[in-house]
Amino acid sequence: MRQPVLTVTDRGIYCPAGDFFIDPWRPVDRALITHGHSDHARPGHARYLSTPAAAPVIRHRLGDIRIATQLYGEQSKIGDATVSFHPAGHVPGSAQIRVEVAGEVWVVSGDYKTTPDGLSEPFEPVRAHAFVTECTFGLPVFTWRPQFEVMADVNAWWRANAAEGRASVLGAYALGKAQRLLANVDASIGPILTHGAVEAVNAVLRAQGLALPPTIRVTPDLDAHDYPGALVLATPSALGSPWMRRFGPASTAFASGWMALRGIRRRRAADRGFVLSDHADWPGLNAAIRETGAETILVTHGYTSVFRRWLAEQGFDARIVETEFEGEAIDASEPEPEPTTP
Ligand SMILES: [Zn+2]
Ligand SMILES: [Zn+2]
Repeated sequence: MRQPVLTVTDRGIYCPAGDFFIDPWRPVDRALITHGHSDHARPGHARYLSTPAAAPVIRHRLGDIRIATQLYGEQSKIGDATVSFHPAGHVPGSAQIRVEVAGEVWVVSGDYKTTPDGLSEPFEPVRAHAFVTECTFGLPVFTWRPQFEVMADVNAWWRANAAEGRASVLGAYALGKAQRLLANVDASIGPILTHGAVEAVNAVLRAQGLALPPTIRVTPDLDAHDYPGALVLATPSALGSPWMRRFGPASTAFASGWMALRGIRRRRAADRGFVLSDHADWPGLNAAIRETGAETILVTHGYTSVFRRWLAEQGFDARIVETEFEGEAIDASEPEPEPTTP
């Protein structure tokens, strides 16, 4: 019997014909990486391959690694497999990975979202026989409003706080979400301060030519009174931590797809929740899957059992793949911060 194009081992998604892994979670010799989030780009591999736009962040996070790059759409041969990267629209540089062996095409989505965010290379559907898809938000309740509407809400919240001289502290994932907010917020409202972890990623992305408005890094000697009405981009874990005290009685908010769930919104130490995700919503997942033309769908990363059943009902050969990807894990399962004591 012929080997499948991709299979799952205890180290990750493996291609026997090319002897490589995609986003492996244990150290391997050759790792193809979809994007720089920590559940996909892990340390310890002998060789890495990513898009040139994803490589700087991966290097920033993992240090001195051996990484080669391959442009979107370019094909390379690894063993008996032909490999290419295609925009996933998730964060800058993020890719779906297409693997072709003897005329059979499999695509691994990595994390993706189907609507443009004004910063990441927009998602491109890729035809495939089999599609390995994430389904972080694979329930009908997750249906995103257009980005411009959410950003209008963010701007209105910031503007109202600024008018009263209050800081607006917005928690967001340091790679991707924070820069997406930066790229789309109305920077004329006031100064923008950033947590060090956010600013470090800003620096990497600016160095590769991405346009972000000016930001000021929050250092221990920064006096928040010098920046009345500022927007403060914080990491999720800084929100509600002692780091916040310097901003006085600030208004707090959190931007995540999980904010669509009232229970999670309530547990967050934030006054406001903005529903903004870098993952596809329910309609996005379904549209992306249809556009691949694939009959076999392997689901991972989220509401896998519900989503698999739904796809099977739609006539797909749908299976669950057990992976160690974590979705917007930092949003979902990170220990909840202590409530702010103003
Ligand atoms: Zn990701
Ligand atoms: Zn992920």
